[in-house]
Amino acid sequence: MEKEFFQNKIIKQILEKYKVLWTLNYLGGLCEWDMMTYMPKKAAFFRAEAMANLGVLRQKIFLDENFVKLIEQAEKEEGLNDYELAIVNQLKRALKHYKLLPPEFLEELDRTTCEAHEAWEKARKKNDFSIFEPLLERVIDLARKEANYLGYKEHPYDALLDIYEEGLTTKEVEDFFTPFIPKLKELLEYVKKSKNYSETNELEEEPYDTERMKELNKQTLEFLNIDPEKIRLDISVHPFTLSLGANEARITTRYHQKDFLQSLASTIHEFGHALYETQTISELTQTPIGGVGSVSLHESQSRLWEKMVGHNKEFIKAIYPEIIKISPKLENYSVEEMHRYFVKVRPSLIRTEADEITYHFHILIRFEIERDLLSGKIKVKDLPIIWNDKYKEYLGVVPSNDNEGILQDSHWAGGNIGYFPTYSIGTVISAIWKYHLEKDLGEISTLAGSKEGIAKIQEWLKEHVHKYGAIYTMKEILQKSVGEELGTTYFLDYLNKKYKEIY
Ligand code: MG
Repeated sequence: MEKEFFQNKIIKQILEKYKVLWTLNYLGGLCEWDMMTYMPKKAAFFRAEAMANLGVLRQKIFLDENFVKLIEQAEKEEGLNDYELAIVNQLKRALKHYKLLPPEFLEELDRTTCEAHEAWEKARKKNDFSIFEPLLERVIDLARKEANYLGYKEHPYDALLDIYEEGLTTKEVEDFFTPFIPKLKELLEYVKKSKNYSETNELEEEPYDTERMKELNKQTLEFLNIDPEKIRLDISVHPFTLSLGANEARITTRYHQKDFLQSLASTIHEFGHALYETQTISELTQTPIGGVGSVSLHESQSRLWEKMVGHNKEFIKAIYPEIIKISPKLENYSVEEMHRYFVKVRPSLIRTEADEITYHFHILIRFEIERDLLSGKIKVKDLPIIWNDKYKEYLGVVPSNDNEGILQDSHWAGGNIGYFPTYSIGTVISAIWKYHLEKDLGEISTLAGSKEGIAKIQEWLKEHVHKYGAIYTMKEILQKSVGEELGTTYFLDYLNKKYKEIY
């Protein structure tokens, strides 16, 4: 029997009207996915136009008098259930944005980020930040304007953080990193002193056959019980997941012809995102609470699959027969040796390829840069120097070119300022899930070796995380599901145990 999620008459009227907005979101999502994957390059200009117009249309429909009235009425309703309350909360958040951000501004933002994405891709091809710099300047300028329109109590960056993680503030992120970073440094120092420590691993230089690598990714997804009728895998410059409801998620990876873990890890990571979306309640898909609400919780899933499942010897053993097909030399390496390649720790330049310890230094650097750009303390034109200085300070390494440095992430081109901190927060949350999951099911290291074990992990996550979708905030879900608060204790315990065994 189908569950009745919504009883309130006003909410039902809202949802009826919302279907048009859902449709526009859906089409906008498809446009975006296409832009990042298969769009012919010369389509860029008109695509940017179309997406900007779509954004304006969305705002116009949202701000329709009758629709706004319904939202205001719903706010006053008594006895709403949790689903209905969540609908009101999500719509109020959206309404606030649409009311405070002028249509000309939204249009300019959409257009600029489309152009910025093009410029970023071009800059990456030429390995030259100066191509991207003027566009980034405009993006940051718009981000500052956006913060001013939206308003904030303490720091302009607060207004942007809140877009991705409801209620998150600059102060909270600073308080998160301040005690966390020294503990990571301590562990990194321990690892570097170990006799097992090495800056390089031969497998990083091992070339592979791209077609066979694609097959390895496909087989790995199959081992992870992917539903190929819901999730598809494609290629993009920067791996990402786009979800269009519980029945449809699109993930991407990249192929660099060597260092196969990069392609494999991205596939597993994005699978974690897609699984989350496709395990939310499908009946909510066309509502404002369809899919996932918290960006941090999203990352807690991708990181759990990538690092906590994907790093296991049992997991590697299970896909080993497929791994050795991608290059004739690989059969000379044992599961044990491959495992060491998967879990190697060393300060490096690329965030997405960073190990679990040094990863958070990469995020801290981006956080500090975004915060200081917003407040006007630093300028876009000085970024290459600032970037290098910070890498030297926190990681002890300096990029030799822009692709290894400031051009590596697509977030700024997409106008996603305020997003990065959710990566660290989400990663830390993944350890909270791991702790409770293992208390219920036993060690992930055993479960990760079989499709049945994987299915158990999936079922647990569905029950404890996924089914909550966008109904509650990240902090509420942590509390409701496992009675925990956001904190780094479980994560640091996990890191210490794992890496003190290896090093
Ligand atoms: Mg991710």
